[in-house]
Amino acid sequence: MAEPMLWVAEPEVSGEIRIVDPHDGAPLRPVPVTNVAQVDEAVARAMATKRSWHDVPIAERAALVQRVARVLRDRARDIAELNHRETGRPTPEALAGVMAGIDTLEQYAQQAPVHRGVSLNGPSSSLDLGRREPRGVVVAVTPWNDPVAVACGLLGAALVMGNTVLHKPSERCPATGAMLGRAFADVLPDGVFHTVIGGPQVGADLVGCAGVDVVAHVGSTATGREIAGIVAENGVHFIRENGGNDALIIDDDVDAEWAAEQAAVGGFTNSGQLCTSVERVYVCERLADAFLSGLVARANALNAPHESAPVSLAPLVDERLREVVHEHVEDALERGARALTGGTIPSGAGTYYPATVLVACTNDMEVMREETFGPVVPVQVCASFEDALGAASADRYGLACTVLTHSLPHALAAVDRMNVGTVKVNGVFGGAPGGSAQPRGFSGDGFGYGPELLDEMSHVKVVHLEGDLR
Ligand code: NAD
Repeated sequence: MAEPMLWVAEPEVSGEIRIVDPHDGAPLRPVPVTNVAQVDEAVARAMATKRSWHDVPIAERAALVQRVARVLRDRARDIAELNHRETGRPTPEALAGVMAGIDTLEQYAQQAPVHRGVSLNGPSSSLDLGRREPRGVVVAVTPWNDPVAVACGLLGAALVMGNTVLHKPSERCPATGAMLGRAFADVLPDGVFHTVIGGPQVGADLVGCAGVDVVAHVGSTATGREIAGIVAENGVHFIRENGGNDALIIDDDVDAEWAAEQAAVGGFTNSGQLCTSVERVYVCERLADAFLSGLVARANALNAPHESAPVSLAPLVDERLREVVHEHVEDALERGARALTGGTIPSGAGTYYPATVLVACTNDMEVMREETFGPVVPVQVCASFEDALGAASADRYGLACTVLTHSLPHALAAVDRMNVGTVKVNGVFGGAPGGSAQPRGFSGDGFGYGPELLDEMSHVKVVHLEGDLR
């Protein structure tokens, strides 16, 4: 049976966050929570500093963000190691996440100074233009599953555009978040950057503070909705990058082994704890048997015991998440799905969950309707590509999807009919560095990535000049 859960459900109440190492349940060093008075003080300081930071020339702000990136590079291994201990993410992948965060900071530091305003064509005797200004105080509330890469995008874009920033990292990786924050605070002028440590209640207090101008939330859809309710009252600009339920659609003209590899990479990377994980598969019937046997073989390889762990996959972040993942699997099994491999909780310490392949899945099952943040790949066999596309597109989430096909008309049909922010053809994790993303529906609103995030973190003032000016 599972080890008892030691996560403190309400860290605000105890004054510290106590989590355990997901590999073995060993308690990690508690991290103090930012109390209400400290949150208020941090917001007041961010408000008091916003004009002076606004007045720092953008090239100087960019140079400081570059310096943060250099400091992070020096501390990258330590941060990755903390991330590994707190969330179970293998250290090389955690390190790749830190490096991706550093790259993003550098990209925004380079892009922002050349990010243009607009000029308009009025009469020749006047001048009309739109200039970009900082929005003011930005609160970034971020998740644990790729904690440095996700946070650095929001923090870098907000800072370089001239906003002061309060960052609340996830309560599931508080020490990682605190160490990340120190790199910013060590470099930036006093009052410009603050880290707020705590769980949902601290997050809710922070986003509801008067004086906050922007809230950017990356996290679950349920939390995004809660925050939307809080910020609506204050007229805050809200950017929301939430959960995904990404479909993988497999046409009948592709190689089954390659499709199995794509599904395994998409479904099992980071133990399925990625917003753009493959969440559900629709495969054309001609390919189904070969595809499933390839996918099950890959899952079985990940399910072999490794050192003292019951499986080779890294553990899930905690018992709380493992329970939800398993509930989704049990719901599918009760409704008629079959597990070809996995689907049971291993005995022993640690929050491991096996790579799981489910067949005979239908869209009424939780595992198909909701994001299952674990290594679970539910599969539906479809008579044709048209049927697969129809089933895949009947969904309320709108983050991303992938289609595997050699048919250009089929690829274009997927682009046209999938109501998602990103359609990938023939690569589950493809995408340009610094790429944009504009999720839809349950998955969010606004740009949380890419050059457009610089627009989200600023607003345009239109200026009309005419007459006798000297
Ligand atoms: P979460 O929403 O539970 O937590 C994210 C952050 O929100 C944490 O810092 C948490 O403390 C805070 N929070 C929780 N309740 C709050 C409230 N009521 N008010 C204010 N803040 C609150 O998400 P999570 O479990 O940490 O992360 C996993 C989720 O994030 C998944 O759904 C995943 O798909 C999503 N995600 C999305 C993207 C994306 O770009 N779309 C990227 C990474 C992760």
